Amino acid sequence: MTETTTSSGGRPSLPMQGIPQPRRDEVLDLPRVHISTHPVMAHKMTALRDKNTPPPEFYRQVKEIGALLAYEATANLTLETVPIETPMGPMVSERLAGGIGVTPILRAGLGLAEGFREVIPDAQIWHLGLRRDEQTLQAIAYYNQLPHRVDLQVCYAVDPMLATGGSAIDAINVLKRRDIPRLCYVGIIAAPYGLLKLSQTHPDIDIYIAALDESLNDMGYILPGLGDAGDRQFGTF
Ligand code: URA
Repeated sequence: MTETTTSSGGRPSLPMQGIPQPRRDEVLDLPRVHISTHPVMAHKMTALRDKNTPPPEFYRQVKEIGALLAYEATANLTLETVPIETPMGPMVSERLAGGIGVTPILRAGLGLAEGFREVIPDAQIWHLGLRRDEQTLQAIAYYNQLPHRVDLQVCYAVDPMLATGGSAIDAINVLKRRDIPRLCYVGIIAAPYGLLKLSQTHPDIDIYIAALDESLNDMGYILPGLGDAGDRQFGTF
């Protein structure tokens, strides 16, 4: 584990060391937070968390969990009517009103975005590169390829691990500068600390997660968590 120093160059400290964290039960009832209760999700989470699950299988599980989360997060989307012809004759049917955007926070969000594409193949994928400064845990934008023309009804920022909340908050800040009527965050595991921060900073968004864990360790990793979601998807240990 890397040791970090204080900004004044003083004695070494760890980013979350000594920082008070809310308990799990204190954030369970936050408004607009949706924690999956689906048994299939719980089953897949076990394979995901298991340290013996190798990267190809881990990536496949992230995609499948992404698809399940996409079902949950899109359950209240707006529909519009459309006249069509079935082989038997005309009818008025329904389709999603306006486009759907998915913003994977690079690189760990890529697997989740693929899961969304399984459910909504014509979703626009807006890549956004934010990384954690290992010393300060602040999010730094190094890649931003969001389109100029926006005709979405909703955009989902997706990132598997909601740890300190820094990247999620920054991603929503970036998306809020676009004219998108509705924004959501979708993650796999949240720590109470990051969940509370995101919910308090952006009370106007819905947050969908598969599991709420216990805490962050001094380095800002989620406990019990699953380790580094980027490394485990892409085999970069
Ligand atoms: N990012 C990860 O990949 N894992 C954690 O536990 C926290 C942040």
